Amino acid sequence: MKRICILTLTSLLLVACATSPTGRRQLMLVSEQQAISASKVAYAQTLKPLTEEGKVDNDPALKKRVTAITERLVAQAVKMRPATAKWDWSIKVIDEPDVVNAWCMAGGKMAIYTGLIEKLHATDDEIAQVMGHEIAHALANHQAEQMSVALATSVGVAAVGVASDRPGLTVPAAAAAAALAISLPNSRTAETEADRIGIELAAKAGYDPRAAVTLWEKMAKLGGRNPPQFLSTHPSPANRLQTLKQLVPQMLPYYENKAPRPVFKL
Ligand SMILES: [Zn+2]
Repeated sequence: MKRICILTLTSLLLVACATSPTGRRQLMLVSEQQAISASKVAYAQTLKPLTEEGKVDNDPALKKRVTAITERLVAQAVKMRPATAKWDWSIKVIDEPDVVNAWCMAGGKMAIYTGLIEKLHATDDEIAQVMGHEIAHALANHQAEQMSVALATSVGVAAVGVASDRPGLTVPAAAAAAALAISLPNSRTAETEADRIGIELAAKAGYDPRAAVTLWEKMAKLGGRNPPQFLSTHPSPANRLQTLKQLVPQMLPYYENKAPRPVFKL
């Protein structure tokens, strides 16, 4: 049985490469649509205990502030990748003052934790950079890529084993992989893509690209013995700060609403 699973997995790996929306070769054991469906289940499972503990959207003013920022970002995301207009975009503010984290699942379900806003004393521009970066991961199909990595590991062997007598993934296995997709570290390549796309989304939405630099500086300062959860899922590509600083002059015209430059299309 085990050998069959491994053989199945190997053959899946051999045929499962695809080109990402950014033009890069990705390992794809699941389609984007499968990632979106599985994320819906994972999202409900993630939100349920938090809702029961009374930790969701407690502060109307903060909710309004974060919603205003993400609505502007989503408008730009849809311009960059029109297919995402039909995504079910939404944002929840999770009341966890010790958790420095944020995410956007495949399909547009987003969350930001109060710890990120409070501990970083994040400005609107910096929140826009965080959420722009998260939205960028979703736009570039990184969750399906992450799920594929999860499925190619122990979760995957189990999932393929369970699913071997019928095509497709079981819902629980797919949901587990989708939940893992936002808790596993992204590859450094994916991080670089998300930085590049995120700063552009934010600039076009009217948020200062220089805040990308201050955001990551603040995040790094929070490091040390108890690094923020966000840093464990977003490993720093080499020279992240330097690369972002180099992008700022290209992004400023968008922010300042000057003559548009060639658009980075997905
Ligand atoms: Zn990231």
